[in-house]
Amino acid sequence: MRVLGIEGTAWAASAAVYDGEGDSESEDESVFIETDAYQPESGGIHPREAAEHMGEHVPEVVQTALAHARDLAAEDPTHEDGDPPVDCVTFSRGPGLGPCLRIVGTAARSVAQRFDVPLVGVNHMVAHLEIGRHQSGFASPVCLNASGANAHILGYRNGRYRVLGETMDTGVGNAIDKFTRHVGWSHPGGPKVENAAKDGEYLDLPYVVKGMDFSFSGIMSAAKQAYDRGEEIEDVCFALQENVFAMLTEVAERALSLTGSDELVLGGGVGQNERLREMLGEMCAQRGAQFYAPDNRFLRDNAGMIAVLGAKMYAAGDTLAIEDSQIDSNFRPDQVPVTWRSGESV
Ligand code: ATP
Repeated sequence: MRVLGIEGTAWAASAAVYDGEGDSESEDESVFIETDAYQPESGGIHPREAAEHMGEHVPEVVQTALAHARDLAAEDPTHEDGDPPVDCVTFSRGPGLGPCLRIVGTAARSVAQRFDVPLVGVNHMVAHLEIGRHQSGFASPVCLNASGANAHILGYRNGRYRVLGETMDTGVGNAIDKFTRHVGWSHPGGPKVENAAKDGEYLDLPYVVKGMDFSFSGIMSAAKQAYDRGEEIEDVCFALQENVFAMLTEVAERALSLTGSDELVLGGGVGQNERLREMLGEMCAQRGAQFYAPDNRFLRDNAGMIAVLGAKMYAAGDTLAIEDSQIDSNFRPDQVPVTWRSGESV
Protein backbone atom coordinates (compact mmCIF):
# COMPACT_ATOMS: atom_id res chain seq x y z
CA MET A 1 0.00 0.00 0.00
CA ARG A 2 1.02 3.60 -0.51
CA VAL A 3 0.11 6.04 2.24
CA LEU A 4 0.41 9.82 2.29
CA GLY A 5 1.31 11.29 5.70
CA ILE A 6 1.04 14.98 6.60
CA GLU A 7 2.66 16.47 9.72
CA GLY A 8 2.52 20.01 11.04
CA THR A 9 2.05 20.10 14.82
CA ALA A 10 4.59 22.86 15.48
CA TRP A 11 7.64 23.58 13.30
CA ALA A 12 7.88 20.89 10.59
CA ALA A 13 5.71 21.30 7.49
CA SER A 14 6.22 17.74 6.33
CA ALA A 15 4.68 15.21 3.96
CA ALA A 16 5.71 11.61 3.39
CA VAL A 17 4.87 8.56 1.37
CA TYR A 18 5.08 5.16 3.02
CA ASP A 19 5.24 2.26 0.56
CA GLY A 20 4.98 -1.15 2.22
CA GLU A 21 2.76 -3.57 4.05
CA GLY A 22 2.56 -1.67 7.33
CA ASP A 23 3.32 -4.61 9.63
CA SER A 24 6.99 -4.74 10.68
CA GLU A 25 9.90 -3.13 8.81
CA SER A 26 10.94 -5.06 5.72
CA GLU A 27 13.55 -4.54 3.03
CA ASP A 28 10.78 -3.91 0.51
CA GLU A 29 9.34 -0.89 2.25
CA SER A 30 10.36 2.73 1.75
CA VAL A 31 9.58 6.03 3.40
CA PHE A 32 9.99 9.23 1.38
CA ILE A 33 9.93 12.42 3.50
CA GLU A 34 9.83 16.05 2.37
CA THR A 35 10.06 18.67 5.15
CA ASP A 36 10.21 22.44 5.27
CA ALA A 37 11.24 23.64 8.76
CA TYR A 38 10.01 26.85 10.36
CA GLN A 39 12.95 28.76 11.80
CA PRO A 40 11.95 31.69 14.07
CA GLU A 41 13.92 34.87 13.39
CA SER A 42 14.15 35.48 17.12
CA GLY A 43 12.92 33.77 20.28
CA GLY A 44 11.04 30.48 20.24
CA ILE A 45 8.17 29.17 18.14
CA HIS A 46 5.47 31.84 17.63
CA PRO A 47 2.12 30.05 17.01
CA ARG A 48 0.95 32.64 14.46
CA GLU A 49 4.22 32.58 12.49
CA ALA A 50 4.29 28.77 12.66
CA ALA A 51 0.74 28.65 11.25
CA GLU A 52 1.74 31.03 8.43
CA HIS A 53 4.64 28.72 7.69
CA MET A 54 2.26 25.73 7.52
CA GLY A 55 -0.14 27.63 5.24
CA GLU A 56 2.68 28.42 2.87
CA HIS A 57 4.65 25.18 2.91
CA VAL A 58 2.22 22.30 3.60
CA PRO A 59 0.79 22.53 0.03
CA GLU A 60 4.34 22.45 -1.42
CA VAL A 61 5.54 19.43 0.58
CA VAL A 62 2.28 17.59 -0.16
CA GLN A 63 2.73 18.22 -3.91
CA THR A 64 6.30 16.87 -3.74
CA ALA A 65 5.19 13.77 -1.84
CA LEU A 66 2.32 13.15 -4.26
CA ALA A 67 4.72 13.43 -7.22
CA HIS A 68 6.81 10.72 -5.56
CA ALA A 69 3.70 8.59 -5.00
CA ARG A 70 2.82 8.92 -8.70
CA ASP A 71 6.34 7.73 -9.64
CA LEU A 72 5.91 4.70 -7.37
CA ALA A 73 2.47 4.02 -8.83
CA ALA A 74 3.87 4.14 -12.37
CA GLU A 75 6.24 1.29 -11.45
CA ASP A 76 3.52 -0.73 -9.69
CA PRO A 77 2.12 -3.49 -11.96
CA THR A 78 -1.12 -3.60 -9.94
CA HIS A 79 -1.77 0.13 -10.45
CA GLU A 80 -4.25 0.98 -13.19
CA ASP A 81 -4.91 4.25 -15.01
CA GLY A 82 -7.37 6.30 -12.99
CA ASP A 83 -6.42 4.70 -9.67
CA PRO A 84 -5.43 7.22 -6.98
CA PRO A 85 -1.66 7.47 -6.33
CA VAL A 86 -2.17 6.70 -2.62
CA ASP A 87 -4.52 4.31 -0.79
CA CYS A 88 -5.23 6.68 2.09
CA VAL A 89 -4.30 10.05 3.59
CA THR A 90 -3.07 10.23 7.18
CA PHE A 91 -2.43 13.34 9.25
CA SER A 92 -1.30 14.52 12.69
CA ARG A 93 -4.49 15.21 14.59
CA GLY A 94 -2.72 16.41 17.75
CA PRO A 95 -1.25 17.24 20.19
CA GLY A 96 0.22 20.47 18.90
CA LEU A 97 -0.45 24.11 18.12
CA GLY A 98 -4.12 24.57 17.17
CA PRO A 99 -3.58 27.04 14.30
CA CYS A 100 -1.00 24.68 12.71
CA LEU A 101 -3.10 21.56 13.21
CA ARG A 102 -6.12 23.17 11.56
CA ILE A 103 -4.11 23.80 8.38
CA VAL A 104 -2.83 20.21 8.34
CA GLY A 105 -6.33 18.85 8.92
CA THR A 106 -7.75 20.96 6.09
CA ALA A 107 -4.99 19.82 3.72
CA ALA A 108 -5.53 16.15 4.61
CA ARG A 109 -9.31 16.32 4.19
CA SER A 110 -9.04 18.03 0.81
CA VAL A 111 -6.48 15.51 -0.57
CA ALA A 112 -8.55 12.58 0.72
CA GLN A 113 -11.67 14.01 -0.93
CA ARG A 114 -9.82 14.84 -4.14
CA PHE A 115 -8.73 11.19 -4.55
CA ASP A 116 -11.78 9.72 -2.80
CA VAL A 117 -9.61 7.69 -0.42
CA PRO A 118 -10.00 7.11 3.36
CA LEU A 119 -8.71 9.54 5.96
CA VAL A 120 -6.76 8.43 9.05
CA GLY A 121 -6.14 10.70 12.08
CA VAL A 122 -2.88 9.93 13.90
CA ASN A 123 -1.81 10.87 17.43
CA HIS A 124 1.58 12.55 17.02
CA MET A 125 3.00 11.16 20.30
CA VAL A 126 1.94 7.60 19.50
CA ALA A 127 3.60 8.04 16.09
CA HIS A 128 6.88 9.05 17.84
CA LEU A 129 6.62 5.73 19.71
CA GLU A 130 5.38 3.42 16.97
CA ILE A 131 8.13 4.30 14.49
CA GLY A 132 10.69 2.86 16.94
CA ARG A 133 8.58 -0.23 17.59
CA HIS A 134 8.07 -0.73 13.84
CA GLN A 135 11.74 -0.40 12.94
CA SER A 136 13.14 -2.35 15.91
CA GLY A 137 10.73 -5.24 15.59
CA PHE A 138 10.41 -5.23 19.40
CA ALA A 139 7.25 -6.93 20.62
CA SER A 140 6.12 -4.70 23.45
CA PRO A 141 8.68 -2.08 24.40
CA VAL A 142 8.56 0.68 26.96
CA CYS A 143 8.92 3.97 25.09
CA LEU A 144 10.57 7.19 26.16
CA ASN A 145 9.18 10.11 24.16
CA ALA A 146 11.65 12.95 24.64
CA SER A 147 10.43 15.73 22.39
CA GLY A 148 10.15 19.50 22.38
CA ALA A 149 6.74 20.00 23.91
CA ASN A 150 6.41 16.67 25.76
CA ALA A 151 8.16 14.04 27.85
CA HIS A 152 6.42 10.72 28.47
CA ILE A 153 7.22 7.16 29.45
CA LEU A 154 4.69 4.86 27.84
CA GLY A 155 3.89 1.18 28.07
CA TYR A 156 1.24 -0.88 26.28
CA ARG A 157 -1.45 -2.65 28.29
CA ASN A 158 -4.89 -3.93 27.30
CA GLY A 159 -5.40 -1.95 24.12
CA ARG A 160 -3.90 1.41 25.12
CA TYR A 161 -0.52 3.06 25.52
CA ARG A 162 -0.53 3.92 29.21
CA VAL A 163 1.33 6.99 30.44
CA LEU A 164 3.57 5.52 33.15
CA GLY A 165 5.36 8.80 33.80
CA GLU A 166 5.43 12.31 32.35
CA THR A 167 6.59 15.84 32.86
CA MET A 168 4.77 17.79 35.53
CA ASP A 169 5.48 21.09 33.80
CA THR A 170 7.34 21.92 30.59
CA GLY A 171 8.40 19.55 27.81
CA VAL A 172 12.04 18.47 27.92
CA GLY A 173 13.15 20.17 24.68
CA ASN A 174 11.21 23.32 25.54
CA ALA A 175 13.09 23.54 28.87
CA ILE A 176 16.43 23.36 27.06
CA ASP A 177 15.23 25.89 24.46
CA LYS A 178 14.11 28.34 27.17
CA PHE A 179 17.58 28.23 28.69
CA THR A 180 19.27 28.84 25.33
CA ARG A 181 16.91 31.74 24.55
CA HIS A 182 18.00 33.29 27.85
CA VAL A 183 21.66 33.13 26.85
CA GLY A 184 20.90 34.54 23.39
CA TRP A 185 21.25 31.41 21.25
CA SER A 186 18.89 30.88 18.31
CA HIS A 187 16.18 28.20 18.20
CA PRO A 188 16.47 25.21 18.47
CA GLY A 189 18.75 25.16 21.49
CA GLY A 190 19.22 21.40 21.97
CA PRO A 191 22.04 20.89 19.43
CA LYS A 192 23.89 23.99 20.76
CA VAL A 193 23.72 22.71 24.35
CA GLU A 194 24.95 19.31 23.18
CA ASN A 195 27.91 20.91 21.45
CA ALA A 196 28.85 23.26 24.33
CA ALA A 197 28.52 20.44 26.90
CA LYS A 198 31.43 18.59 25.26
CA ASP A 199 33.85 21.06 26.95
CA GLY A 200 32.02 21.35 30.26
CA GLU A 201 32.38 20.13 33.82
CA TYR A 202 29.67 19.30 36.35
CA LEU A 203 28.14 21.93 38.62
CA ASP A 204 25.25 21.52 41.00
CA LEU A 205 21.73 21.86 39.51
CA PRO A 206 18.35 20.53 40.75
CA TYR A 207 17.35 16.95 39.99
CA VAL A 208 13.59 16.43 40.28
CA VAL A 209 11.99 13.00 39.92
CA LYS A 210 8.77 12.39 41.84
CA GLY A 211 7.66 8.78 41.59
CA MET A 212 7.42 8.19 37.86
CA ASP A 213 7.16 11.87 36.92
CA PHE A 214 9.78 14.51 36.30
CA SER A 215 9.92 18.31 36.44
CA PHE A 216 12.15 20.48 34.26
CA SER A 217 11.13 24.04 35.14
CA GLY A 218 13.28 24.26 38.31
CA ILE A 219 16.43 23.04 36.62
CA MET A 220 15.82 25.39 33.70
CA SER A 221 15.52 28.40 36.06
CA ALA A 222 18.59 27.26 38.05
CA ALA A 223 20.59 26.95 34.81
CA LYS A 224 19.64 30.52 33.85
CA GLN A 225 20.68 31.73 37.32
CA ALA A 226 24.01 29.87 37.13
CA TYR A 227 24.72 31.53 33.78
CA ASP A 228 23.72 34.96 35.17
CA ARG A 229 26.09 34.66 38.12
CA GLY A 230 28.98 33.99 35.74
CA GLU A 231 29.37 30.21 35.61
CA GLU A 232 31.01 28.99 32.39
CA ILE A 233 28.33 28.31 29.76
CA GLU A 234 29.97 24.96 28.90
CA ASP A 235 29.66 23.84 32.52
CA VAL A 236 26.01 24.88 32.74
CA CYS A 237 25.24 23.01 29.51
CA PHE A 238 27.09 19.92 30.73
CA ALA A 239 25.26 19.85 34.07
CA LEU A 240 21.92 20.59 32.42
CA GLN A 241 22.32 17.60 30.10
CA GLU A 242 23.64 15.27 32.80
CA ASN A 243 20.76 15.98 35.18
CA VAL A 244 17.92 16.13 32.68
CA PHE A 245 19.01 12.97 30.89
CA ALA A 246 19.70 11.11 34.15
CA MET A 247 16.14 11.96 35.24
CA LEU A 248 14.75 10.51 32.00
CA THR A 249 17.00 7.45 32.31
CA GLU A 250 16.01 6.82 35.94
CA VAL A 251 12.30 6.81 35.11
CA ALA A 252 12.83 4.72 31.97
CA GLU A 253 14.66 2.13 34.08
CA ARG A 254 11.89 2.10 36.67
CA ALA A 255 9.31 1.61 33.90
CA LEU A 256 11.27 -1.38 32.56
CA SER A 257 11.40 -2.81 36.05
CA LEU A 258 7.70 -2.23 36.77
CA THR A 259 6.45 -3.65 33.47
CA GLY A 260 8.97 -6.50 33.27
CA SER A 261 9.78 -5.43 29.70
CA ASP A 262 13.31 -5.87 28.40
CA GLU A 263 12.92 -3.52 25.42
CA LEU A 264 13.19 0.27 25.33
CA VAL A 265 12.61 2.52 22.33
CA LEU A 266 13.36 6.23 22.14
CA GLY A 267 11.28 8.82 20.29
CA GLY A 268 11.19 12.62 19.85
CA GLY A 269 13.56 15.37 18.77
CA VAL A 270 15.65 15.39 21.98
CA GLY A 271 16.36 11.73 21.19
CA GLN A 272 18.86 13.02 18.61
CA ASN A 273 21.19 13.82 21.51
CA GLU A 274 24.09 11.38 21.66
CA ARG A 275 24.61 11.74 25.41
CA LEU A 276 20.97 10.80 26.10
CA ARG A 277 21.29 7.76 23.83
CA GLU A 278 24.52 6.78 25.53
CA MET A 279 22.95 6.93 29.01
CA LEU A 280 19.87 4.96 27.96
CA GLY A 281 22.02 2.42 26.10
CA GLU A 282 24.26 1.89 29.14
CA MET A 283 21.30 1.52 31.48
CA CYS A 284 19.70 -1.08 29.18
CA ALA A 285 22.98 -2.98 28.79
CA GLN A 286 23.39 -3.15 32.58
CA ARG A 287 19.97 -4.75 33.02
CA GLY A 288 20.19 -7.00 29.95
CA ALA A 289 17.54 -5.04 28.04
CA GLN A 290 17.60 -4.08 24.37
CA PHE A 291 17.61 -0.43 23.33
CA TYR A 292 16.56 1.04 19.98
CA ALA A 293 16.72 4.64 18.75
CA PRO A 294 15.50 5.42 15.21
CA ASP A 295 17.59 7.50 12.78
CA ASN A 296 17.47 11.24 13.39
CA ARG A 297 15.10 11.83 10.47
CA PHE A 298 12.49 9.72 12.30
CA LEU A 299 13.17 11.22 15.75
CA ARG A 300 12.51 14.91 15.09
CA ASP A 301 9.00 15.79 13.89
CA ASN A 302 8.47 14.20 10.47
CA ALA A 303 5.59 12.94 8.34
CA GLY A 304 7.29 9.56 7.84
CA MET A 305 6.24 8.38 11.30
CA ILE A 306 2.69 9.64 10.62
CA ALA A 307 2.53 7.68 7.35
CA VAL A 308 3.90 4.49 8.97
CA LEU A 309 1.42 4.53 11.86
CA GLY A 310 -1.32 5.67 9.48
CA ALA A 311 -0.64 2.59 7.33
CA LYS A 312 -1.08 0.31 10.36
CA MET A 313 -4.33 2.07 11.31
CA TYR A 314 -5.63 1.93 7.74
CA ALA A 315 -4.85 -1.81 7.57
CA ALA A 316 -6.83 -2.22 10.82
CA GLY A 317 -9.81 -0.33 9.34
CA ASP A 318 -9.27 2.58 11.74
CA THR A 319 -10.36 5.41 9.42
CA LEU A 320 -12.22 8.67 10.04
CA ALA A 321 -15.31 10.16 8.45
CA ILE A 322 -14.61 13.72 7.29
CA GLU A 323 -17.25 15.08 9.70
CA ASP A 324 -15.49 13.38 12.64
CA SER A 325 -11.98 14.46 11.70
CA GLN A 326 -11.58 17.58 13.86
CA ILE A 327 -8.11 18.21 15.32
CA ASP A 328 -7.35 17.96 19.05
CA SER A 329 -4.49 20.14 20.29
CA ASN A 330 -4.44 18.31 23.67
CA PHE A 331 -4.74 14.78 22.24
CA ARG A 332 -3.10 12.49 24.81
CA PRO A 333 -1.51 9.19 23.79
CA ASP A 334 -3.63 7.24 26.30
CA GLN A 335 -6.83 8.45 24.58
CA VAL A 336 -6.03 6.35 21.51
CA PRO A 337 -7.60 2.86 21.17
CA VAL A 338 -4.70 0.83 19.75
CA THR A 339 -6.68 -0.90 17.00
CA TRP A 340 -3.60 -2.08 15.06
CA ARG A 341 -2.40 -4.32 17.91
CA SER A 342 -5.75 -5.98 18.61
CA GLY A 343 -5.42 -9.58 19.60
CA GLU A 344 -2.44 -8.87 21.85
CA SER A 345 -3.35 -9.46 25.48
CA VAL A 346 -0.67 -7.32 27.14
P1 ATP B 1 6.48 17.41 20.06
O1 ATP B 1 6.89 16.25 19.24
O2 ATP B 1 6.29 17.13 21.52
O3 ATP B 1 5.30 18.12 19.48
P2 ATP B 1 8.30 19.39 18.94
O4 ATP B 1 7.25 19.65 17.94
O5 ATP B 1 8.91 20.58 19.59
O6 ATP B 1 7.74 18.41 20.04
P3 ATP B 1 10.53 17.60 18.12
O7 ATP B 1 10.99 17.65 16.71
O8 ATP B 1 10.11 16.27 18.66
O9 ATP B 1 9.41 18.67 18.14
O10 ATP B 1 11.67 18.13 19.08
C1 ATP B 1 12.26 19.39 18.93
C2 ATP B 1 13.12 19.60 20.16
O11 ATP B 1 14.29 18.77 20.06
C3 ATP B 1 13.62 21.02 20.34
O12 ATP B 1 13.33 21.41 21.66
C4 ATP B 1 15.12 20.91 20.13
O13 ATP B 1 15.89 21.83 20.91
C5 ATP B 1 15.38 19.48 20.57
N1 ATP B 1 16.63 18.94 20.01
C6 ATP B 1 16.97 18.82 18.71
N2 ATP B 1 18.21 18.30 18.60
C7 ATP B 1 18.66 18.09 19.86
C8 ATP B 1 19.87 17.59 20.43
N3 ATP B 1 20.88 17.21 19.65
N4 ATP B 1 19.97 17.52 21.78
C9 ATP B 1 18.95 17.90 22.58
N5 ATP B 1 17.79 18.40 22.11
C10 ATP B 1 17.64 18.48 20.77
